[in-house]
Amino acid sequence: MLLQGITEGNPAVQRRAMAKAITLLESTRADHRLQADELLTALLPHTGRALRLGISGVPGVGKSTFIEALGLYLIEQGHRVAVLAIDPSSTVSGGSILGDKTRMERLSVHERAYIRPSPSSGTLGGVAEKTREAMLVCEAAGYDIVIVETVGVGQSETAVHGMTDMFCLLQLPNAGDELQAIKKGVMELADLVVINKADLDPFAATRAQSQIQSSLRLFGQHGNPEHAHHDESLWQPTVVQLSALQGQGVAGFWQQVSRFWQLQTDNGRFAAKRQRQAKSWMWERIEAGLRQRFRDHPAVKAQLENTTDQVLQGRLPASTAARQLLELFH
Ligand code: GDP
Repeated sequence: MLLQGITEGNPAVQRRAMAKAITLLESTRADHRLQADELLTALLPHTGRALRLGISGVPGVGKSTFIEALGLYLIEQGHRVAVLAIDPSSTVSGGSILGDKTRMERLSVHERAYIRPSPSSGTLGGVAEKTREAMLVCEAAGYDIVIVETVGVGQSETAVHGMTDMFCLLQLPNAGDELQAIKKGVMELADLVVINKADLDPFAATRAQSQIQSSLRLFGQHGNPEHAHHDESLWQPTVVQLSALQGQGVAGFWQQVSRFWQLQTDNGRFAAKRQRQAKSWMWERIEAGLRQRFRDHPAVKAQLENTTDQVLQGRLPASTAARQLLELFH
């Protein structure tokens, strides 16, 4: 029923079916989880054809302004656009950095767009898992561009990078100055860096563009195997400028994304990355599941506090304690 609604329904039926499916995926009830797993397995053949785009940046850099402008541009080009979010603040406090319902006002009411806020509770791993699954629902419903948005704080960027085909980082024109907000680790994840608000200071934007471009070149020489240089068949991370507010540069941004998509498809990296992501998702979930089962295991439960105390008092080495507890876990 749900499957049919998602894959074949008219727009209204489809929206209701998607909302129901995502609620089911987010439920913590064991019987719901079984149904959700069945649904995901049935949806799987209908997924995988969309481009998955990750977008990150500090609060205020212009993510929602940009995503709205991009979304409307893509719809004009004939695409259907889904926007999902991973808000790390929601996992800690139930609060939200990514904000309220007034974001992306024009895009959110468009019938060819689907916008879903971040799941609002649980660990980051849990929220990321729900978002990955929601992404499959959107793809099965025919959304061919899926944008996953996150905030440039915390570990959520790694999570988004791990579930998307291309990771874009938004920066402000003055970011190049101090190479400040540029946490090196995050910059290394970026396939494309966007200097937003170029209208505020075109000179600073151009300077930032060339500074960031050269630091990306440096990273390429030292590490990220996704971005090897001196090889025309591989993608080299690029920096573009735009003004999300004025809608300038959006087409140029999309040109770069399309070039990335084409190149990575031709050289086989696109498919290989998805395989790697699927495998590491499986392992992440196995590890999370094992940890939970370990904690719930009766023999471990009975012994855990006592053993932890012994470690805290320095009477038992931590590694020995771990081995003893693992022995109890069959
Ligand atoms: P987010 O927190 O990253 O989602 O940022 P928002 O999209 O909410 O934007 C924060 C503020 O920056 C808003 O007041 C926007 O109008 C403004 N803004 C966004 N993009 C631009 C831009 O390209 N130029 C200028 N001048 N302001 C912008």
